Amino acid sequence: MSIQHNLEAILSEIPENVRLVAVSKTKPVEAIREAYHAGQLDFGENKAQELLQKQPLLPSDIRWHFIGHMQTNKVKYIAPFVHLIHAVDGLKLLKEINKQAVKNKRTISCLLQFHIARESTKFGMDINEAVQLLGSGEFKNLSNIRVAGVMGMATLSDDMDRVRKEFRQLRLYFEQLKKEFFARSPEFHEISMGMSHDYKTAIDEGATLVRIGTAIFGERDYQSA
Ligand SMILES: *Cc1c(COP(=O)(O)O)cnc(C)c1O
Repeated sequence: MSIQHNLEAILSEIPENVRLVAVSKTKPVEAIREAYHAGQLDFGENKAQELLQKQPLLPSDIRWHFIGHMQTNKVKYIAPFVHLIHAVDGLKLLKEINKQAVKNKRTISCLLQFHIARESTKFGMDINEAVQLLGSGEFKNLSNIRVAGVMGMATLSDDMDRVRKEFRQLRLYFEQLKKEFFARSPEFHEISMGMSHDYKTAIDEGATLVRIGTAIFGERDYQSA
């Protein structure tokens, strides 16, 4: 199955208001180019170094989504061009993103990552941490940050009832924050959830961004990557 075919199959299934982020981590630039020529503009990477190697080799109208755990000391490398940082999990990181955004004379869009899965290895805040962050004076001083919504990863499981409940929880967090902090901010509108095996459930539960890798590019080979 070709990348173009896979993309078309997925796009035919997702509603128009849901944006597809093609997760190209570990995949070569040729594969990204193939997806780009099929019309795909949003791509997701989870390692700063890998993104920095690929970005200059590819068309400049690609929108690069950083979907991985962001280390504070790596922000400066991607700040000049990143489109959306999906996994922001604290004020310290937000402050660094703001600092680099100011240096680059841009506003950087971010999503707040929530821990919704059972696995404790996954990253993300709980709702109290997020409320505290958004209510703090320090947050209000971050002039070059745009908080565009929330992001989460469900438990890696075939138990779709559980996965559905986790996505629903993320949606409720989104609604709560919208009401408390962003009622008059249309830019707070994204719910990034759903991957190759669970994106249909995520869309049912209100995803606006789905992050899909394997179903587009095939299995990842971490040995040779
Ligand atoms: C790798 C990754 C994805 C894509 O996973 P697939 O199962 O290949 O679709 C989505 N989100 C994040 C945060 C990832 O790291």
